[in-house]
Order: sequence, then structure tokens, then C-alpha cells
Amino acid sequence: MSKWDSDTVERRGARRPVITVERRRLLGCACCAAGSLLVPSLARAAGAPATAPGSIDNWRARLLKGERSLWLVRGEDQLRSTYWTPDSGYDGEAYKEICWLLRDVQANKSFAMSPRLLDVLCGLQNWLAFNGLRQPIHVSSGYRTFSTNWRTEGSALNSRHLNGQAADITVPGVSLARLAGMASLFGEGGVGMYLNKNFVHVDTGNERIWIK
Ligand SMILES: [Zn+2]
Repeated sequence: MSKWDSDTVERRGARRPVITVERRRLLGCACCAAGSLLVPSLARAAGAPATAPGSIDNWRARLLKGERSLWLVRGEDQLRSTYWTPDSGYDGEAYKEICWLLRDVQANKSFAMSPRLLDVLCGLQNWLAFNGLRQPIHVSSGYRTFSTNWRTEGSALNSRHLNGQAADITVPGVSLARLAGMASLFGEGGVGMYLNKNFVHVDTGNERIWIK
């Protein structure tokens, strides 16, 4: 695939995702935990348009209720950090720690990562924990400088990684399809499933899904 494929195409004006994945199919992977309180809401989210928007918003809000923490692993580094609390808002030091873990490791430069991206990762982690899967999110890429992005095979020229709005992730014990389905439902942004490279790209851009 060229550098203009994947998320770039979508942002340059295409109305539909490059590869449209049926949400219902992904949902089947995402919500395998029977009896989850979230399943009815998710079923509505996937199947019923806007009949009960309050409840759809509600399940997202519930996943970010209380303190917002992240448990991240990148190579040898591991970080558990609470970056936001209801009483005090953002913790600047914790936020910086997370930004450092999500830095461009080749250029050794960190960036002010999108708070929305942190919330998406936090919501995913909480959702997995809700289903009994307490695992760190393994990060293979976060912020990228232009030169690193240029050297990254298959990356889009205007990748969201350049703006601190994207991360490539895996979670031990969670299939790519399940993780992508959850990210798509929860984050409502860009989600790319990279089967050969074994990671899921999550960003806070327009809603779209692709598979490579
Ligand atoms: Zn990516």
C-alpha cells in the first residue's frame, strides 16, 4: 500500500472508509462477555440509530467515570498513571509521564498527546477490566515526528500520529478484531486493524475503519 492509502484517503474527502467492516460483525467479537451490563447498550449502539441517544452516551460516560488511569507497556517500560480525577482534573505530571511513554522513541521526542486519545485508551482498558481482562495496553507507536513517520512503512503522510492523536496498540489475550471492534464502538474515531503487523491503530479523527 502506498503512503496515501489507509486513513489518508478518508481524510482527503472519501465519504466511506477504505474497507468497510460491518459493525455488527465486529460487535460480535467485542462483546463476548455474556451478561455484561454494557451489552444491551452496545446492541442499541450498533443496531438502533438514535432511538435512545442518552443511553448510548451513558455507557461511554460510565467507562470514564471516576479517576482516569492508564496502564501502559512499551518495550521494557511500564507505566501506571492516573492522569485525571473528578476533584482535581488533569494531573500535569501524570499527563507528562504518559506523553513520554507515547513519545517518538526514534527521535526521542515527546509531544502533548490528545487528551481525547488518552480517554479512548482509558475507556478501552476499563471496558476490558469490566469484562475481567485486567491487562496493560502495549504500545508500539504513539507520537511520530515527520521524519519518523516518513520512514514508517505504510504510514499516511498526514498521519494522526504526527499530531499526537493516534496510537498503535495491542492487549495480551485480546484478539485484534475484538480490540478494533471495541475501539470503534467506544472511540468513534479511526480504527485500523493491521493483521500482518499485529496491532490496532486507534486515532481521534473521523470515524472510519480499515483492515490491512
Ligand atoms: Zn497507527
